[in-house]
Amino acid sequence: MSYDYDLFVIGGGSGGVATSRRAAQYGAKVAVAENNLLGGTCVHRGCVPKKFMVYSSHFPGQFEEAAGYGWTVGESSFDWSKLTTAVNNETTRLKGIYKGMLDRSNVAVFNARAKILDPHTVEVGDQKVTAEKILIAVGGSPYRPEGIPGIEHAIVSDDIFHYPEQPKRIVILGGGYIGCEFACILNGLGSEVTQIIRADKILRGFDDDIRVNVQEAMQKHGVCLLNNSKDIAIEKTDSGLKVTLKRDAEETVIADVVGFAATGRRPNLDNLGLENTKVEVNNGAIAVNEYSQTAEANIYAVGDCTDRVNLTPVAINEGRAFADTEFGGNSRLMSYENIPSAVFTTPEAATVGLTEAEAREKYGDDIKVYRSKFRPMYYTLANKDEKTLMKLIVRAESDRVVGAHMVGDSAAEIIQGVAIALKTGATKANFDSTVGIHPSSAEEFVTMR
Ligand code: NDP
Repeated sequence: MSYDYDLFVIGGGSGGVATSRRAAQYGAKVAVAENNLLGGTCVHRGCVPKKFMVYSSHFPGQFEEAAGYGWTVGESSFDWSKLTTAVNNETTRLKGIYKGMLDRSNVAVFNARAKILDPHTVEVGDQKVTAEKILIAVGGSPYRPEGIPGIEHAIVSDDIFHYPEQPKRIVILGGGYIGCEFACILNGLGSEVTQIIRADKILRGFDDDIRVNVQEAMQKHGVCLLNNSKDIAIEKTDSGLKVTLKRDAEETVIADVVGFAATGRRPNLDNLGLENTKVEVNNGAIAVNEYSQTAEANIYAVGDCTDRVNLTPVAINEGRAFADTEFGGNSRLMSYENIPSAVFTTPEAATVGLTEAEAREKYGDDIKVYRSKFRPMYYTLANKDEKTLMKLIVRAESDRVVGAHMVGDSAAEIIQGVAIALKTGATKANFDSTVGIHPSSAEEFVTMR
């Protein structure tokens, strides 16, 4: 039987676009449907605009630090709408670049919502198209948790990039990646930030040293953190949003118009037509095997909609592994071992491999922990008490480095290189025999005793 397309991709985000291009490169006839903006969450509502805002939030600190280096910096002021306009102009430019890349790869683009009618037929806008294989790469969206009265008054991360004015007082709910990153961004830009978390520490799942060091630094920089909070409720009042919660006693925080729910994301599976297929859904996410194949043999899914490791580069790699396997004659699996990630807080945190707790659970006493905490050279003349933390987890018996963690400037840039070492099975002796780059913070990773 012949189909209109060899591959129909639903979702033009990072995963969908990378997969389409890779499959087309192998000669497959490919179409992608995107009902919103090509580039998806990463380009328009996540990584990219967020990182621009992170850069912006660092300037007040850098103006202060400049004085220690002999500079007199004039009066500074910040214009929220100038920043958000510049950020949104850039993401619009990137959308055009994505479209250009797809056009050059001969991938057909449908600017419409797609719904699966049967395992080989997709309704897209007012057309019906058929495809031999379908890839679902629809991503996820932030959600507001049930059980918090008044949560409907809270904005989510999607909204902040278009928020008309800088929130003066903001309450952020959640201590994960998004909550922490935006607490730091808005704090750096001069908003009064209260972050409410239900645990005792932010960033559950990260190494404890990262959690403690980032949390302490955020508090030192001015984020008011209310941990161990329960019975959270939000109420709209004339003076703003009133957030009540219980810690030891009941507490109240007033925010300007906004509360910000950063309490996780969920796959976008509504109205996708999955009921017309054998595709299974587990805990709200599409169930797939190690080849990203669903229970419907010709339908695959990658990225956040499968809720495996929800990071842009993971979605891209899952998609490319699928395209290589199905269209490139190179059957391969995505490797989930040693995936590095970073949290763009101030200070930044980055990690690869096992946390100390995970390593102890897995290897018992067969681990050695190396830790170094120091004031980076940059902050000496700036006369600021900012610290960098670096940590290596090493298996005692094999000497293999199984975890690397860092809090401090350029943590993401540094851990990216360290991740290559872990991926290739480097030992502590290999680290030690590597010549450091002096003077740098990164050299500490090869000089830890
Ligand atoms: P996370 O899952 O990272 O964090 C959710 C936070 O919300 C946790 O602190 C959680 O608390 C809290 N929470 C959840 N439900 C409730 C509730 N009912 N009441 C109070 N608190 C609640 O989600 P995010 O939204 O921060 O990020 C979503 C995903 O996006 C992440 O998984 C990440 O992979 C990705 N991302 C990656 C980034 C990066 O790589 N730099 C940046 C931004 C996002 P608790 O810890 O107690 O469960």
